[in-house]
Amino acid sequence: MKRTFTHIALLVLVTLLPTTGAWCKEIQLDIRPGEGVTQQKKISDYFASLKGSNLDTDVFILDSGKPGATGLMIGGTHGNELAGTVAALVTVENVVVKKGRLIVIPYTNLSAQSMPDTRNAIAQKHLVQSRSGERYLNYGDRRTDPADQGSEDPDVYINPGGYVLKNGAESRNLNRTWPGKADGTRTEQLSHALIELIKQEQVDFNLDMHEADTPEKYTVNDNYDTGVNRRLAYTLVSHPDGLEVAAFALLDMEADTGISMKLEESNRKYRGLSHLEIGNHTQSLSFLSESPNPGQDRWRDDGDVITDAKYPLTHRVGMHLRLFKALADAYATETGKALVMENLPEYKDLMAGDIGRFLN
Ligand SMILES: [Zn+2]
Repeated sequence: MKRTFTHIALLVLVTLLPTTGAWCKEIQLDIRPGEGVTQQKKISDYFASLKGSNLDTDVFILDSGKPGATGLMIGGTHGNELAGTVAALVTVENVVVKKGRLIVIPYTNLSAQSMPDTRNAIAQKHLVQSRSGERYLNYGDRRTDPADQGSEDPDVYINPGGYVLKNGAESRNLNRTWPGKADGTRTEQLSHALIELIKQEQVDFNLDMHEADTPEKYTVNDNYDTGVNRRLAYTLVSHPDGLEVAAFALLDMEADTGISMKLEESNRKYRGLSHLEIGNHTQSLSFLSESPNPGQDRWRDDGDVITDAKYPLTHRVGMHLRLFKALADAYATETGKALVMENLPEYKDLMAGDIGRFLN
């Protein structure tokens, strides 16, 4: 595909009371595919019920035409976790695959991008200087827009694996709805569509890229149940089947970038998470990464999600990208099936300046 500029206009109709009429909100999500993209699809190509909905996101395929491994990069599961989305954008706009196949989804929960951040009220648009001039990065909310869910939030959410979440709004959290349901809510249908993609495209391994609170002000009381996750940053979570590949990848990662990450095995108690359910329901080795996002620290007034001195976007994007490459290399060593990527930025090159140098 030639270097084209794709502008996706997402129209969200919000109906107010009949007396006040209705108004329109337009979100423009900017993806500018590079020459390595060989095919562009929609998630509804794998599950037609999502066609035309605000969850029908773009899927980019970078195919070398040569046999090898198929890797999947999942960005933007949570709309307020910018580094995963930007890691995916940098990949779509730069990488050329030389062996095997790469599938990239930058805005996995597209609906979540249409809402402003409800956690810390981080601005929705962030100006960067790209190779072609000014460009905005979008920062959304954690969950699906209620207007796109197709049903009211329940009082408590019982997810497809039977796990009970006390906050019914978590029914709109894409990382609680795996492996999804064909006849479920829109968010459950999205998880189902992604499982279909992974099966149909025979994805060998996948990385779901997330962000969490920074490790600043960590306390021993932080845990999954309290919802304070300052322990999560710099963690690679692995499905039990992927532990060996994950362990080798983290050694490689530290040698490459100097970033030391913790390895955690999927906890079978917490159902509905991507790394556990994709691994359980498909043949794909499943991983989830967490980078530290100042924009998610509740104690900060105005976290800088792009140029924070300690946790800049370049550092966080570099962490996800180099980790993905380390996983691909470890997978190749273990199975003999390689995914070889050219023009994936080196960590030190990312850290040498602003993120816009790697965006079209
Ligand atoms: Zn997340």
